Amino acid sequence: MDFTTLCVHGCAKKYDTTGAISVPIYQTATFAHPGVGMSTGFDYSRVQNPTREHLEQTIARLEGGIDAMAFSSGMAAASALMELFSPGDHIIVSDDLYGGSRRLFQTISVKNGLHFDYVDTSRLDLVKSYIKPETRAIFIETPTNPLMRVTDIEAVSRVAKQHGILLIVDNTFLTPYFQKPLLLGADIVLHSGTKYLSGHNDTLAGFLVVSDQDLSERLRYIYKTIGSCLSPFDSWLLIRGVKTLAIRLQRQQESSLKISRWLSGHKRIRAVYYPGLPEHPGHEVSKKQASGFGAMLSFQVDCGETAYRVLERVSIIQYAESLGGVESLITYPMLQTHADIPEEEREAKGIGECLLRLSVGLESADDLIDDLSQALGG
Ligand SMILES: *Cc1c(COP(=O)(O)O)cnc(C)c1O
Repeated sequence: MDFTTLCVHGCAKKYDTTGAISVPIYQTATFAHPGVGMSTGFDYSRVQNPTREHLEQTIARLEGGIDAMAFSSGMAAASALMELFSPGDHIIVSDDLYGGSRRLFQTISVKNGLHFDYVDTSRLDLVKSYIKPETRAIFIETPTNPLMRVTDIEAVSRVAKQHGILLIVDNTFLTPYFQKPLLLGADIVLHSGTKYLSGHNDTLAGFLVVSDQDLSERLRYIYKTIGSCLSPFDSWLLIRGVKTLAIRLQRQQESSLKISRWLSGHKRIRAVYYPGLPEHPGHEVSKKQASGFGAMLSFQVDCGETAYRVLERVSIIQYAESLGGVESLITYPMLQTHADIPEEEREAKGIGECLLRLSVGLESADDLIDDLSQALGG
């Protein structure tokens, strides 16, 4: 079945006999047992709920996995994931990373005895050089946030397999519509479902997706024990969001390429980071491992004042955190997503006062360009 059809229809299992086209919202905490020692398949909604199960099975199929768990946010999913590890374990992480993941690792996971090295995972030699006997996982984002660096998933997965290390990929930016890390050798896919999967800037959600039975059982145990599950109503909003995932991303990607090209030619723009541009260093790897380049782009303006002016003057585009929704959002990584990263390190990476990140929504690309044009000024 084509991906687009799968988005619309989701998993085939029906829970309802009325013929309802929309999956019902099973707003219940618990389920009555038909007899002693018997179960309808549902016992308590923290463990499983029909609306959530439908969503989870849909996401598992979209990613090419065998199981997906839906969490109350992307960070809830990442926190549960960290419970796979024990004190003393070492994890190699992409150095250009979503700020919240970095905060989780640096302040909470470290307290629990885990060790991290932040590495440019687009360089395989560097990844290899950081592997130690205690290394248990490599955690990558590709493309990265906010600099859009691209890591070769298959190449890293080969190294991970040689050393018996888990490969975890945060697939929030491209979604399974463009990139399926499990099919490229990753063991676990992480999502902030808040972004493209939901797609409407109205719900928080997170996912872990796996293609291995043992990992599924270990994570399911953590999942029901920790209890950061997605509610039936939010599961339903996600089911609805996913129906239009393919069509949204197609259009958002088209607009992103158009806007990237326009920005590249603007006199106040010093650099544009979008993997869809042939001059982007990750362009070839992107083409090899993904069917598209997504709808996130970042750019350096000529000075801090210009960045401030853009943020204050944009009118269709809104100055807000988050990404992946139908509304275009512009972010100032230095003050928002990456504010917790030490200044020196942040500046060295190019995340300074001139860097802006744009999540291209579903408005007309020409309107978005007009908006950026008036905000950048002459
Ligand atoms: C937003 C985001 C997260 C965190 O997800 P929440 O749903 O906000 O908790 C993790 N990774 C990436 C790449 C994100 O963009």
